[in-house]
Amino acid sequence: MADKRVKGCPNVECTEYKKTKYKSEDVYCKKCSSKLVLVCSKCWTPLAEDNPKKKICAKCEAKAEDRKERIIQKGRLVGQNALAVLAVIPAIIKVAPEVFKKIASNK
Ligand SMILES: [Zn+2]
Ligand SMILES: [Zn+2]
Repeated sequence: MADKRVKGCPNVECTEYKKTKYKSEDVYCKKCSSKLVLVCSKCWTPLAEDNPKKKICAKCEAKAEDRKERIIQKGRLVGQNALAVLAVIPAIIKVAPEVFKKIASNK
């Protein structure tokens, strides 16, 4: 698998700082020639560990996990609601003829 991590220029004075995402195989900033560092692809925090599978920092990873968890929970809720609606439908069908009869007899 190709290394999909991104590198950034660590030079705060550089116009490419927190602006240009370099490829993991790039070594030097094309503007100021600073040695590039592996950074989080989301928040530009320099990555602490050299793990080719990790392209975002621990903080962003925790956030992403959090979001995933929430989406799963939301999905579960939607599923429950759908079940609740399905459970209610037979009741409506049962009640409906009575309602229609009542409306008809009101004429
Ligand atoms: Zn630079
Ligand atoms: Zn991050």
